[in-house]
Amino acid sequence: MATTLPGTDIVLVGVGWTGGIVAAELTKKGYQVVGLERGKPRTTEDYLMVHDELRYAQRNEMMQDLSKETWTVRHDPDQTALPYRQHGSFLIGDGVGGSGEHWNGLTYRFMPYDFEIRSKTIERYGESKIPADMPLQDWGITYDEMVPYFEKFEQMAGISGETNPIKEMPQVTFPTPPLKETPAMVMFREAATNLGYHPYVAPAATLSETYTNPDGITRGACQYCGFCERFGCEYGAKASPTVTVLPVAEQTGNFEVRPYCNVRRILHENGKATGVLYVDTTTGEEFIQPAKVVVLSAYILNNVKLLLLSKIGTPYNPETQTGVIGKNYCYQMTSAGSTGFFEGKEFNLYAGTGALAGVLDDFNGDNFDHTDLDFLHGGNIALGHYGKRPIANNSTPKGTPSWGAEFKDASIKWANSTLGVGSQGSVLPHKHNYLDLDPTYTDQFGDPLLRITFNYRENERNQQKFIREITTKILKEMGATEVTTPGDQGDWDITKYQTTHNTGGAIMGADPKTSALNNYLQMWDCENLFIPGANAFAHNSGMNPTGTVGALAYRAAEGIEKYLQNGGGSLV
Ligand SMILES: Cc1cc2nc3c(=O)[nH]c(=O)nc-3n(C[C@H](O)[C@H](O)[C@H](O)COP(=O)(O)OP(=O)(O)OC[C@H]3O[C@@H](n4cnc5c(N)ncnc54)[C@H](O)[C@@H]3O)c2cc1C
Ligand code: SF4
Repeated sequence: MATTLPGTDIVLVGVGWTGGIVAAELTKKGYQVVGLERGKPRTTEDYLMVHDELRYAQRNEMMQDLSKETWTVRHDPDQTALPYRQHGSFLIGDGVGGSGEHWNGLTYRFMPYDFEIRSKTIERYGESKIPADMPLQDWGITYDEMVPYFEKFEQMAGISGETNPIKEMPQVTFPTPPLKETPAMVMFREAATNLGYHPYVAPAATLSETYTNPDGITRGACQYCGFCERFGCEYGAKASPTVTVLPVAEQTGNFEVRPYCNVRRILHENGKATGVLYVDTTTGEEFIQPAKVVVLSAYILNNVKLLLLSKIGTPYNPETQTGVIGKNYCYQMTSAGSTGFFEGKEFNLYAGTGALAGVLDDFNGDNFDHTDLDFLHGGNIALGHYGKRPIANNSTPKGTPSWGAEFKDASIKWANSTLGVGSQGSVLPHKHNYLDLDPTYTDQFGDPLLRITFNYRENERNQQKFIREITTKILKEMGATEVTTPGDQGDWDITKYQTTHNTGGAIMGADPKTSALNNYLQMWDCENLFIPGANAFAHNSGMNPTGTVGALAYRAAEGIEKYLQNGGGSLV
């Protein structure tokens, strides 16, 4: 029998980026916030002397324990899904700070086109351009309405960056100047400019200089140590919840984080959440935490799983395309990247930061004419200098054997002389890409696992063919002696890391029939439940999501405050 605890104003399910932002904003306003986090507590001291690729980047020390909880995966609704037993395609964080501790820090704003993608596509090309099996939707909010929230996230994190030279893209003056360009990035900039494109230095949450944010938190500049993605930052230079928003919440005295507390259900009555049921995993005891407002901030996949387990909202039915929970699950596409081999050149690839990149958006969104193209949207194109980890990287030219003396010689020869020009391709919704509960497999508590039904569809496959020609062209212009262009996009492969940019499943919109959340991230069917994660994205864009996730978390925090002040009701 679960023990019922004293109530609180707001309970957070998960204390990563979104939970941390909501905690900081609402505790500053005097509200009591309890943060339930399934993983361990963390501080910057935990990251001292952690430059160990095997432990953190290969064995994924900071990620979710898949023996306790995982997902099942399949490509299509007529297949049987099987469990994701080893970390591969994406890596989900665990512990205070969530994935926000070991992320890269590339911090973009989604574009005006993204927020009104359906209307703008119809306006430019007509409705027939949208395939019948693509439930493309506007987000119920415009880019202009989002700007103040983007600014809050960028100011809090101290984003370093350069204004995008393309006028269709968000025009941002960042709080700190861009990171230093490496010689390889200079080559990328020159080659892309020669080809008529518009390169710039990517916006980064890894600080270019010492910065004090509006909350008075001061952090030092990045050391370009190269152990960034999949690692915590021992200098505090990478914006992470533990060095930005969580200390602010803690200083108010209104915030309590409870680590090792795994939430199993959102409790609700008569269309309102009453609190959550959780297990203290150190003792196995169950507790009920009552609250006036529940915030699901457990990462998109866990957010959607908890909605389905708690029976809140109508599950999506792929045949009738009705229902909203699980709908419009999207991912990203990274297979259009080409590799260039530069005989006799050395690039010092082992230094860098998780967010150091030259990038261009000429082929992103609707920045180019799609009239004669067989796909919508596109992706950014980037040369990253993220710190090349030696165990993970063994690029060799085509035709090199994959083992033996010849392989070893080629790996050594090319280790510091190989550059990749990659792309983060958008993924647009498809009626057969969705999330639901698995009928067979269960987690550590005996609850059904979340089932992911996903594959790359025609739109992505056609986009990949188009973008890979550009990544190859840039490397040739950069003077590569040999370039490897990828083959066609195959089926989604869960064994190889691509990105942790999962989106959708509880999307925002203007209509409760086609979306789960209104534009304050408030659930249509449960007015005191707010869900500020990438689950709210109605599709996935051609860039990293967290700038937009963070902005939506600030929007949700504003909505929660309004909701509490109004004494309830729908905000839209
Ligand atoms: C390796 C890596 C690199 C990335 N790089 C970038 C990048 O460069 N740019 C970018 O934009 N994005 C990047 N991301 C994505 C980024 O980290 C996420 O978008 C962001 O952290 C999402 O915030 P969130 O609050 O939704 O989830 P998180 O920050 O992951 O927080 C969720 C928290 O909820 C907890 N939780 C889950 N389930 C429960 C439960 N049932 N009960 C209690 N607690 C629970 C988790 O343990 C976790 O701490 C990267 C991600 C990874 C893994
Ligand atoms: S590269 Fe910079 S931001 Fe990343 S972990 Fe190292 S010092 Fe921190």
